[in-house]
Amino acid sequence: MPVAVHDELNVYASAEARFETAAQKLHLEEGVYRFLKYPDKEITVYIPVVLDSGHLEVFVGYRVLHSSVRGPGKGGIRFAPDVTLDEVRALAAWMTWKCAVVNIPFGGAKGGVICDPEKLSKSELERVTRRYTASLCDWFGPERDIPAPDIGTDEQTMAWVMDTYSMHVRHATTAVVTGKPLDLGGSRGRKEATGRGLMICCDKALKKFGLAPQNCRVIVQGFGNVGSQASLLMHQAGYRIIGIADVHGGFYNEKGIDIPKLHDWVYTQRKPLPDFPGGGEKTTAQEILFRPCDILMPAATENQITAQNAHRLDCRILCEGANGPTTSHADPIVAKKGIFVIPDILANAGGVTVSYFEWVQDRQGFFWREQEVNERLQDIMEQSFDQVVRYAETHDVDNRIAAYILAIDRVARALKLRGFYA
Ligand code: GLU
Repeated sequence: MPVAVHDELNVYASAEARFETAAQKLHLEEGVYRFLKYPDKEITVYIPVVLDSGHLEVFVGYRVLHSSVRGPGKGGIRFAPDVTLDEVRALAAWMTWKCAVVNIPFGGAKGGVICDPEKLSKSELERVTRRYTASLCDWFGPERDIPAPDIGTDEQTMAWVMDTYSMHVRHATTAVVTGKPLDLGGSRGRKEATGRGLMICCDKALKKFGLAPQNCRVIVQGFGNVGSQASLLMHQAGYRIIGIADVHGGFYNEKGIDIPKLHDWVYTQRKPLPDFPGGGEKTTAQEILFRPCDILMPAATENQITAQNAHRLDCRILCEGANGPTTSHADPIVAKKGIFVIPDILANAGGVTVSYFEWVQDRQGFFWREQEVNERLQDIMEQSFDQVVRYAETHDVDNRIAAYILAIDRVARALKLRGFYA
């Protein structure tokens, strides 16, 4: 079913359009198709919080459990001023497909709270997080639905989720949430995991192109957890990062940008990215997408590459660090340009993969060395990359639809084995 033009920026419509195409290619049975198209459950919670000023504010929060066919729901919590239910729905469905692409035993879920974390104090954020968690205590659980960080939330947020849930169930439950601090049942390598997974995918793509990292120019949009860790790791591995920008702007520099220094500037000195001295030619987060490079990595947010601007891309490989950075309307334009796409549900799956390792370690009460985490991550990412590329060849589709086909096929098989309980 084609999506109406005005829906291009509706991420749920974008997610649905890909699901429809893949389901058709897969000749998915009508009933199974209908079951997988809709989420299992959705909830809206109203979160009363007394602000530092004494004023009472009511925030709106969501949690969508898209699927628990292959295991408990899994997915982050996003704190952002423009969160919508449709966005959370799309992100929840993407989590289902992402977990299935990398074959980890989770379903998909996502949460969001409409708030601006930059404008709230730490204690206000704590109260929002705790009340949101308290409202969802019956939904969350190590065997039910396991949250994690996403845009606007971090390790500290996850520690509050863990504590609030644990107080309600009356025992310390580390496995209810992932992306926690190391001192509280977190996993080694989790912070870097999404960035590391992106690099592993790029390494694999370079082999296909016969390119060495040293000859590979990379542009990264976004310098949050994903963009900063990916650029840092790739810089260390010899890739030349020639462009980087966050929402406030950034730099383009053919000679390469000193990423460790930039990281220190932003994360240790807490200074704005565009003020970094000697970064290079100043540019914006939007314009950086269209500068010439070998790998373009949008690692910020949704809807960056659209039908209006996709013709301006000048890269060989598009490696999606963010969820949904490319609209479904842009897909055919990107394909026509011959760009090799490493789709979000594969490319950024390193984060949830190490979340899975964290959950396993918490449940075992036995923690792994970082090398072990990284090796297992590498195995899973490489295998998944190969499977997606193989599916693209055998089904004669692009990598994105191949990833959806692989994922939907896995979920549908599990569903048929379980049957429909009546
Ligand atoms: N928020 C991340 C994602 O979109 C991580 C989810 C998780 O670890 O559960 O993949």
